Amino acid sequence: MEIIPVVPRGWCQGVVRAIQIAKNTAANHPNEKITMLGMIVHNRYVVDACTELGITCLDDPNRTRLQMLEKIDSGIVIFTAHGVSDEVRRRAKEKGLLIADATCVDVQKTHKLIEEHSRNGYVLYIGRKKHPETEGISDISDHIFVIQDIDDLNSLPQDLSPVWITTQTTISALDCNDLMQACKNKYPDAVSDIEICNATLIRQKAVQNLKNIDVLIVVGDPCSNNSRQLLKIGLRSGIKKGFLLESASQLNKEMFADADRVAVTSGSSTPDRLTSDVIKTLQKYAETGILDICSKLSGPVL
Ligand code: SF4
Repeated sequence: MEIIPVVPRGWCQGVVRAIQIAKNTAANHPNEKITMLGMIVHNRYVVDACTELGITCLDDPNRTRLQMLEKIDSGIVIFTAHGVSDEVRRRAKEKGLLIADATCVDVQKTHKLIEEHSRNGYVLYIGRKKHPETEGISDISDHIFVIQDIDDLNSLPQDLSPVWITTQTTISALDCNDLMQACKNKYPDAVSDIEICNATLIRQKAVQNLKNIDVLIVVGDPCSNNSRQLLKIGLRSGIKKGFLLESASQLNKEMFADADRVAVTSGSSTPDRLTSDVIKTLQKYAETGILDICSKLSGPVL
């Protein structure tokens, strides 16, 4: 069995920056209460490592960032790589909190563009409704419509004008193309700009370009959108079997029974330690036929 590590994979610049901001905040303010407003990036190993640094993570999929903020009364609040709305910023300042802003620069750029376009027109934002990035964006203006599926588009009035169509930074390029086309069919005069970030695009392209692969392993957290998209793209590109694993401890022989070539990649929020443990475990299995599953990581994730 041959193991093919996919390149590029794993942490992107935005994630590295967000983690560095969290680490610096913990190091520079050892006596302050520090709270992350949501998962700093969508990986529980990273969140756990931040907790070990003394940072509390507030995360509740049923509450908005603004609602969660009400639970923080003092200290420093860290805004995650996914960004927040202006209202969250305003309220954090009003509460007297110090802010450490880890919003990715790509997300900041999309925010600015959407602000400009929604001032005098309408924005169709192709993205996932419950994602924190979408939450931060939809609060910018009531001229923004989130398009997660075709029903969202069908429910919009025909007479919107001018219309600008854009995307979440981490969605699948394949999914986005279909919805983008449907939006253009409905609003033929609309102008569009795909805002999927370069890190997401090149990781997706690398999976799309794989040839003669029997099994695709994506290392990533189940709540990581870009990790799930990598798996989806691999399967849509013709790879017959694929799995999303959090760590090497979830490997089992049935996953790659009869496989000759197994490709391994990881989402941009996945620490390299997790992916290298999976690759090493698979390489050892390929050499010896023994699947030596270890539940412990081979070292620190940050
Ligand atoms: S995936 Fe893209 S948008 Fe998200 S943190 Fe990385 S570079 Fe930024």
